[in-house]
Amino acid sequence: MNNSVDGFFDCYGGKYVAEVLRRPLDELEVAFKEAMADEKFLDELNTIQRDYIGRETPLYFAPTATRILGGAKIYIKLEGLANTGAHKINNAMGQCLLAKRMGKNRIIAETGAGQHGLATAAACAKLGLDCTVYMGEVDVKRQQPNVAAMELYGAKVVPVTSGSRTLKDAVNEAMRDWAANPENTHYVLGSALGPAPFPDIVREFQSVIGREVKKQCEERGVKIGAMVACVGGGSNSIGFFSPFIEQNDVRLIGVEAGGIGPGIGENATRMKGGASREGIMQGYKSRFLLDEDGQALPTRSISAGLDYCGIGPQLAALGKSGRVEFTSALDSEALDAVKFFAKNEGILFALESAHAGAAAIRIAKEIPSDQAIVINMSGRGDKDVFITSPVFRREKWLDFLHSEIERLESQKDVHEK
Ligand SMILES: *Cc1c(COP(=O)(O)O)cnc(C)c1O
Repeated sequence: MNNSVDGFFDCYGGKYVAEVLRRPLDELEVAFKEAMADEKFLDELNTIQRDYIGRETPLYFAPTATRILGGAKIYIKLEGLANTGAHKINNAMGQCLLAKRMGKNRIIAETGAGQHGLATAAACAKLGLDCTVYMGEVDVKRQQPNVAAMELYGAKVVPVTSGSRTLKDAVNEAMRDWAANPENTHYVLGSALGPAPFPDIVREFQSVIGREVKKQCEERGVKIGAMVACVGGGSNSIGFFSPFIEQNDVRLIGVEAGGIGPGIGENATRMKGGASREGIMQGYKSRFLLDEDGQALPTRSISAGLDYCGIGPQLAALGKSGRVEFTSALDSEALDAVKFFAKNEGILFALESAHAGAAAIRIAKEIPSDQAIVINMSGRGDKDVFITSPVFRREKWLDFLHSEIERLESQKDVHEK
């Protein structure tokens, strides 16, 4: 446990929301504390983690990568093997179970690329809860595979048409819905950010990752030198790091999206770089990519999950104190890491997680060979085929898309006849 103090981590965090949201947030905080002290709730969550999510997820020793890189032993936490393909389900399921305990049968969520919406929709289907997912209209268009899956799980996907019609606007819309319907509705926020108590709640539900790593390493006598995770909003990284924060002999390394370079608008490096500023947005104080007037700047990354202008307040504080080191990986380095681990280990990283893989490749030689670098593979890469294929094998992918269109058009004729 490394809880906030009254919702703050050092100077970051807080609860900067409209008056109408104070009560639902306060109620949530009380309900969460009660649930985490209730054996019955924890037993039920444990059983679901085992039988439905598929925990614990493996900690895989990567022998070929270790040999090629010639430094630390490389271990990979295969969080991408969790049901629905990424760590997001840990938080979504925890919060949905909490909502059920609070007597709320309607769930709302925001989603950017669709991974959090997908996990929440699946959790709601499993628990029999009504689910509405707010998603920017632009994202609905470009993330159709995830929209299709959410609909199969029975969720209603609502395209958001305000602002830039992306993640930030979906968060605003979800907050508005929650403020209007606090009696029967719970808002499942998708990362370790937003107003208190969300950063504490999300970290606790994600810390199952770090607790498993700790146990798996102890059982196998693995001495950890460094842990590396990618940082979007910060949920997989803080859950992975959290049980190790007091253990000062373990380096904790967060990897942000370096995008195509250091210029403004070219990346999502909130902890470093020219546009990184302290600010207050979407209910919390943290570091953001902002212009001189305090407006959110556009961000860029090949991985949708890291393409966000803010970072969770606890990570901002841990970065300020120096406990968590921050670095970044370029789009090109992430793509190289996807190839490296696929070819040498038979493991397909999500593009987000590949940023952590890229940083591990870079620092492998800095860590003695009797120690381990543990990489959190927050998700698996199947979902990225629409992004990686056009890069790795553009012509073949174009042929495929053309033939798919032809096939569908000809089937349309069949239906019309
Ligand atoms: C959403 C996502 C991320 C980024 O979110 P965090 O809250 O920073 O963990 C990273 N990896 C995958 C696979 C994701 O789906």
